[in-house]
Amino acid sequence: SGDTEMTYIKSITLKGFKSFAKETNIEFDKGFSCIIGPNGSGKSNISDGIIFVLGKLGSKSLRAENAASLIHNGGEGGRPSAEAVVDLHLDNAEKTFPQNGNEVTVSRVVRRNGTSIYKINDDVRTRQEVLELLARADLSPDGFNIVLQEAISRFVEMRNEDRRQLLEGVAGIS
Ligand code: ATP
Ligand code: MG
Repeated sequence: SGDTEMTYIKSITLKGFKSFAKETNIEFDKGFSCIIGPNGSGKSNISDGIIFVLGKLGSKSLRAENAASLIHNGGEGGRPSAEAVVDLHLDNAEKTFPQNGNEVTVSRVVRRNGTSIYKINDDVRTRQEVLELLARADLSPDGFNIVLQEAISRFVEMRNEDRRQLLEGVAGIS
C-alpha cells in the first residue's frame, strides 16, 4: 500500500544453510543489486535464504526435498551442519517496523527434525508474529516480491484464464 514506508535488505547472514557451511554475510546497497557467479556457486541459494526467513513453508519451493536438506550436508568431505540459520537485516530508518533502532533482524532456524524457530531481534517469536511484522512492509512469503525462474515459465505456459486471475490478484482487483 502507498502509505507503507519502504524497507530494504541491508544484509543477509547464512550459516549452515544449503551450500553456506560457515557463516557468510552478504551486504546490499539501497537500490539495485546483482549477484553473479559460476553455475552451482550458490546464487539461488541466497534468494532461497531470503524466502526462508520470510516464512515460506514447504521445502520444495526452496528447492529442497525436505526441511533437513536445507541444512548444509557437508558437501564433499566436509562436516554436515547441525542446523541452518539465516538472518535478514532489514532497514528500519523510516520506522517501517515498530521496533526501536534503525535495523530489524528477522531470523529463522531449522533443525534436522524439521522444526523451525523464528526470531525478531534475537527474541524467539511465533511464525505468525514474524508474518505480521513483515506485512508492515508488504512482505509475505507468498507475495510477488520474489519471482522464481520456474514461475516465469509457468506464467508463459498458463491458460489465459489463469493468467488473468493471477494478474488481477497482483493488481488487487480480483
Ligand atoms: P545456476 O547459475 O546454475 O543457477 P546457482 O549459483 O544459482 O547456479 P545454487 O542453485 O544456488 O547455484 O547452488 C547449487 C549448489 O548448492 C549445488 O552445488 C548443491 O549441491 C548445493 N547445495 C544445495 N543444498 C545443499 C546442502 N543442503 N548442503 C550443501 N550443498 C547444498
Ligand atoms: Mg540459480
